Amino acid sequence: MFQKAVLRLTLWYLAVITLLSVAFTVALYQVSTRELNTLEQRQQTVQQSIIQLQLPPSFTALNQQRIEQIEESKQNIAINLAYFNIVIILAGGAISYFLAKQTLQPIEESVEAQNRFTADASHELRTPLTVMRTEIEVALRDGNFNLEESKQLHESTLEEIGKLETLTNNLLQLSKQDSASQRAAFRLCALEDIAAEGVNRVKPQLKKHRDTVETHLERGEVLGDPWSLAELVAILLDNAIKYSPEKSVITLATQVEHQHAVITVADRGIGISPEDMPHIFDRFYRADLSRTKGKQRDGYGLGLSLAKKIADTHHGVIEVHSTLGSGSTFTVRLPLGHK
Ligand code: ADP
Repeated sequence: MFQKAVLRLTLWYLAVITLLSVAFTVALYQVSTRELNTLEQRQQTVQQSIIQLQLPPSFTALNQQRIEQIEESKQNIAINLAYFNIVIILAGGAISYFLAKQTLQPIEESVEAQNRFTADASHELRTPLTVMRTEIEVALRDGNFNLEESKQLHESTLEEIGKLETLTNNLLQLSKQDSASQRAAFRLCALEDIAAEGVNRVKPQLKKHRDTVETHLERGEVLGDPWSLAELVAILLDNAIKYSPEKSVITLATQVEHQHAVITVADRGIGISPEDMPHIFDRFYRADLSRTKGKQRDGYGLGLSLAKKIADTHHGVIEVHSTLGSGSTFTVRLPLGHK
């Protein structure tokens, strides 16, 4: 499909180049032959005078030779211009193809990414649905299905629904983080409030894992959407909880440094391997399961890509330092807000 589009665009570019080249050639031919035409006319008049005056034939021959030379020059100009056009059209064709490819490449990449995303999302959505369908079908076929089993089935279905909810919420958040409309609603938000709201959102997970969050909060303000910024902190805290042993201490700090607000979330968990490091912000990327053995894997690999998108929308950056087996530190740098 893209090859066709590239060829079509190449033809359009080439048509424009050919049109310009032909127009330029015609103009050039007109200008360069104008003088020769005047000269030729003059020679024709001289020829007639020679005939009328009955001058010797050598004069006629000489004059005729001049007229022929002028004709030849005009022909040479036409041939050279034709060659010039052929070269321009051939070179134009190659350049047009290159430019068409360059123009359409980002669109092709974005469509590919979109397709990949849709395929990944559909796959993730299908998994809980398949689980629910199988369990319900088995239950329906079982003639001795009792109340206890029915309760278990409902619990399991509820769990899968919870997963679907998380996934659809994540997908919705990702699509919402689209710059222009988001930025219009930006306001000054206090770092301490963002941090507090972030902690608040992961309270159930903290309680379940019996982890504690140690906070070191320096005051500062950033211009942004408080809900999204708290979500960013919550994502980092949620990961810190998920990828650390139970009863861990997680550190959350806010600082003001060189016109930037810095939010840091550090854990002493399993860490991230150098192979996974370049991919952790990719959508649907989850590190090798074997490293998280013994842990119930929940999440769809969308958390960090959402966190990055929130940081991007706020003109910020997100960095990570991690040592496998020792823990990870995520740092978010956002420009300080001014009234
Ligand atoms: P997930 O839903 O799997 O947590 P994320 O996008 O939040 O998805 O994270 C992507 C991957 O990065 C995770 O699967 C995990 O392997 C790794 N990761 C993220 N945060 C941490 C952390 N604090 N410690 C160790 N690994 C982490």
